[in-house]
Amino acid sequence: MMTAEEFHSWWNAYQAAEAESGSGYLGLLDRVAARGNRTPGIPDASMQLLEAQLQTHYAAPQAKSAAAVYRLYRQACERQGIPPVSERTFYRVRARFTTTEVIARRQGRRAAYASQPFFWLDQTTPRHGERPFALAMVRALPSRKGAGCSFTGKIELLPRQMEAASVFHIECPQCLAVREVHPKGDRVTFSWHVKRVTNTPNHGMRWVRRGGAWELSEKKA
Ligand SMILES: [Zn+2]
Repeated sequence: MMTAEEFHSWWNAYQAAEAESGSGYLGLLDRVAARGNRTPGIPDASMQLLEAQLQTHYAAPQAKSAAAVYRLYRQACERQGIPPVSERTFYRVRARFTTTEVIARRQGRRAAYASQPFFWLDQTTPRHGERPFALAMVRALPSRKGAGCSFTGKIELLPRQMEAASVFHIECPQCLAVREVHPKGDRVTFSWHVKRVTNTPNHGMRWVRRGGAWELSEKKA
């Protein structure tokens, strides 16, 4: 049961989100996710890996199912000796992660429509086929603008630096999302990603930008 205090705090979150984005539902999702973050006993590394897996496998045109991504996540945890989060926590974080932009990524080019949800009301829209389905999905989920991080593109880190250190994780200087990057050719590109949705500290060896220069997060032993 919820106490009156808890109810009021949820209600405030709902109203604040409603005022800010027009969707109180998002406020609730944020709270659920924030709660997930604070769950005692979940190591930061488990959350970090979860988010990296969502970035790599879920917000991608391959559009793997949530169940498949959870399986991949568990396998990655096993390889790295990290305890996985529960399936319930996984689905909570995924809910927060799934924005219209992520849906668009998952649907590839077809989802260019995602930015015009009112098109659905247009009577000329065919009533069958992919488009109405895509639109129905978009409309069924709350839209959250600007969920994609603006830090993207070529960065001033060299592939040979990465090879020499044999470190292929890079931390976004803006939102702190960590991505695994295997550079092709002579440039390193930090690709499109969802703004980090968890707030546990990052762990592990990775490239971070400090004062304009890219360096390793920890000294190599
Ligand atoms: Zn970012």
